[in-house]
Amino acid sequence: MALRTIDTVDVAGKRTFIRADFNVPLENGAITDATRIEAALPTIKWAVAHGAHVILASHLGRPKGIRDPKYSLKPVADALAEVLHLKVILAPDCVGPEVEHMSKSLDRREILLLENLRFHAEEEANDPAFARQLAALADVYVNDAFGAAHRAHASTEGIAHVVPITAAGFLMKKEVAALSQITDAPERPVVAILGGAKVSDKINVIEHLLDKVDTVLVGGAMAYTFLLAAGRKVGDSLVERDRLDVARAVMAHGKSKLRLPMDHVVTSDLSGAAPIQEVGIDVPDGQKGVDIGPKTVDAYRDVIAKARTIFWNGPMGIFEVEPFSHGTMAIANALADSSATTVVGGGDSIAALARSGRSDDITHISTGGGAALEFLEGRPLPGLTVLER
Ligand code: AMP
Repeated sequence: MALRTIDTVDVAGKRTFIRADFNVPLENGAITDATRIEAALPTIKWAVAHGAHVILASHLGRPKGIRDPKYSLKPVADALAEVLHLKVILAPDCVGPEVEHMSKSLDRREILLLENLRFHAEEEANDPAFARQLAALADVYVNDAFGAAHRAHASTEGIAHVVPITAAGFLMKKEVAALSQITDAPERPVVAILGGAKVSDKINVIEHLLDKVDTVLVGGAMAYTFLLAAGRKVGDSLVERDRLDVARAVMAHGKSKLRLPMDHVVTSDLSGAAPIQEVGIDVPDGQKGVDIGPKTVDAYRDVIAKARTIFWNGPMGIFEVEPFSHGTMAIANALADSSATTVVGGGDSIAALARSGRSDDITHISTGGGAALEFLEGRPLPGLTVLER
């Protein structure tokens, strides 16, 4: 699919509405990780350098349609002003006559940042009238919010039906190109590593990837639903009993490709306070599996070392608790050591990589966990589809 990007558009003197993903983590009003802001800079800088009147829009958190100062984009405005050395004006809202007036009276060295889109319930409802109000601020619409591309919201989908000129930003293009390396003619062997809490979140991805990749390595709590479905003992591990049939079907479909843990780190208390032991494939009664065991780590490491293309989403255990983090950290390091094309998505896997200090050794770290998974599931992302019209 050919995605039209911003650099094919003449933005000079045009109000260029860039939907970015500034959904950054905040603690006491301070940004704790500015990765998403940095990732949006190439598109913003290109637009500024080419004479656009830049209008930026994003959601932040889940204010659920209510104006809540806790979710104001003010910290983002300050961070942008600092890195761009431009005046960043925070609009009092994201729609309305006052904001429309502001969009038309920008100086060359000024950027307008709209206030949180999700202060209006109409944003997530993809309300057409709200999309038209957003469109009234734009001569050109650019979507660079890969992290929100799997949502059909007013600012990611509805608006693109109204503004006559639309394009993707550079981040969007980079994310799509990186993920396409896994789905379109990848260098083989291709390995997907999937972990995390729930089978239900990722079963469709596994199903779809089994047709595309050579091996799927499963870890985290979701391994226990598969192991139980395969007739193993899982003790008190987290399982989704209503997904056993689906898990069985997926295993039947991808028998030779799907790899499950062969040993585990177990305990009776998730806080790490109770005794911890390593056990074989069966988890004893009263115990919970909280990490993949050392034999599994070795086996997964071998598969990773031989792979030429690797995708990773989701921790191998409760990595937030140090004694249960070894499996996840071993996988993070194995990926960083690999010379394969490596793509990582999802907040926990990215946090584990950051903790290992090896983030720079990864080919592509996706800014959108959910969007990346839906892309790999083969589902059309509404925010992308609308740009391809
Ligand atoms: P997800 O959002 O589905 O990627 O899940 C991430 C969460 O899964 C992390 O907070 C982990 O602590 C949790 N997790 C991983 N392995 C396990 C496990 N064996 N038991 C319980 N929770 C787990």
